[in-house]
Amino acid sequence: MELRKDYFLDRWIILSEKRKDRPRQFKREHKKEDNHSACVFCPGNESLTPTEIGRVPSSSNVSASAVPNTAWQMRWFANKFAFVSSEENPKVVSDGKFFTYGGAYGFHEVVVETPSHDLQLWDLQKADVEKLLEIYKGRVEELIKKPSINYVVIFKNHGPEGGTSLVHSHTQVVAFSHIPPLVREKIDAAAKHTGCPYCKIYEVENKSPRKCFENSHALAFAPFASRFNYELWIMPQRHVKTFNDLTKDEISALAELIHGALSKLKALDASYNMLFFYSPDSDDLHFHIEITPRLATWAGFEFLTDVIVNSVSPETAAKFYRNEL
Ligand SMILES: [Zn+2]
Ligand SMILES: [Zn+2]
Repeated sequence: MELRKDYFLDRWIILSEKRKDRPRQFKREHKKEDNHSACVFCPGNESLTPTEIGRVPSSSNVSASAVPNTAWQMRWFANKFAFVSSEENPKVVSDGKFFTYGGAYGFHEVVVETPSHDLQLWDLQKADVEKLLEIYKGRVEELIKKPSINYVVIFKNHGPEGGTSLVHSHTQVVAFSHIPPLVREKIDAAAKHTGCPYCKIYEVENKSPRKCFENSHALAFAPFASRFNYELWIMPQRHVKTFNDLTKDEISALAELIHGALSKLKALDASYNMLFFYSPDSDDLHFHIEITPRLATWAGFEFLTDVIVNSVSPETAAKFYRNEL
């Protein structure tokens, strides 16, 4: 596994030829295979996954409605088809001209969100989403302490267009030696403003036609320059930088908005990605979540220009989330 940088842009790739051996549970026509016995994330197949790192036992407080009665509600372990490895060397070398590269060093984990093969995150209860956010917080806390780890990336892929290869609902956690370029770009752009621009965006969008939902601690809105159909951002009202800074009430508030947003995406049966942005300790970035439904396909124009043609305005998207369409 190798990390390579573009000749001169701050654009990186990871070469991971092992990834092509992943099982694919979506066929070309995007029908789900429902062969539970073959699913390594299903209860009964625990021995087929890499060693378990942690679990939420079924006796805990997580809502058990409609999920099978098994020993666990959520469990997490190393990703068998990791695209980073702790055996790689984190050192990046450069010939000083065009070739900059290093080992794709890191830790790649999977959090299975439910013992049910058939339920998706959007079918679960708010309490389950809350528990999941607590797990993310715990994983970031633990993984950031590992040597040469500078950022823990948390994201969820849902559906074939969202890039998931397995039907069974899960989140991926990738502890990485670099601050991802997009996170760095956001930090640097925010630093050019007087005060936190996200705190101001919160205030402005809370009164805009792009507002979707709010509660006492958080807001969900369709961003002004949405790149995806029905793109949604969720952020805490308080200037929270990291998972660790989130209070119980804020976690509960975020979980409620995620739960509300996903139940709307369920109605569209939309593939989506859910991305968690937060600040490294030494920097300052307002914690936020981006949900990017994958209903449209980017084509040549988008790839050449990085300018996205979006056929659903954020104002329309917000009406959809507010049940006004
Ligand atoms: Zn399964
Ligand atoms: Zn802020």
